[in-house]
Amino acid sequence: MIALESIEFRYPVGAFRLVVPELRVERGETLAVVGASGSGKSTLLSLIAGILVPGVGTATVDGEEVSALAEPARRDFRLHRLGLVFQEFELLDHLDVRDNVLLPYRMSPRLQASVEDEQRAERLVEEVGLGGKWRRNVRRLSQGERQRVALARGLLLDPPVLLCDEPTGNLDPSTTDEVLALLLERVKERGTTLVVVTHDHGLLPGFDRVLDVAEFQEVGA
Ligand code: ADP
Ligand code: MG
Repeated sequence: MIALESIEFRYPVGAFRLVVPELRVERGETLAVVGASGSGKSTLLSLIAGILVPGVGTATVDGEEVSALAEPARRDFRLHRLGLVFQEFELLDHLDVRDNVLLPYRMSPRLQASVEDEQRAERLVEEVGLGGKWRRNVRRLSQGERQRVALARGLLLDPPVLLCDEPTGNLDPSTTDEVLALLLERVKERGTTLVVVTHDHGLLPGFDRVLDVAEFQEVGA
């Protein structure tokens, strides 16, 4: 579950201001976030993920008031409780599919990948349509395939909350449909709370709810 309350946020520089009186996303709900470029979609996601902290108000995610945590605790929270899939994928180009998907284990001293974890990761990679590419360097994958690697990594730890920022940006329409269908299927199976920023309005009917972030923008501020 995600609850934003009485949030006011501005960057240290610039006039942009985001005001969120209230936003609740129920457990297992799927929410699409839309809005023009620069309207604050990524900012909203970063506030939920605890990458940014609001000047005023609270962000509570999976029972944790992330906005009240210090930076190391927020990082820890992101690593262990959230799945994050960003537009830039954030794959490590010198690593293969396996090592990119298992990256969360490497980043956390608390997590140790067991043989079972590794098998689960390999199954996930097959499920996202990358069977046979487990040991392939990600440099040798297409954009669509790289996107699937990022998705597999986001799903790996079975997070209660999954946040995706334009996860199908740069993909052709048929790959976009496939990746999104896969994502929705996985989260519905697992009861994951899902927030996806998307530009692709064709995808919206697949979500429980659509939010236009323009309603949170302060006009004339
Ligand atoms: P969107 O994801 O909807 O395109 P963003 O949330 O990235 O929009 O940005 C919202 C607004 O905040 C934009 O006007 C952008 O220029 C501004 N902005 C984004 N990041 C920063 C930053 N680090 N510092 C100052 N302004 C920023
Ligand atoms: Mg953005």
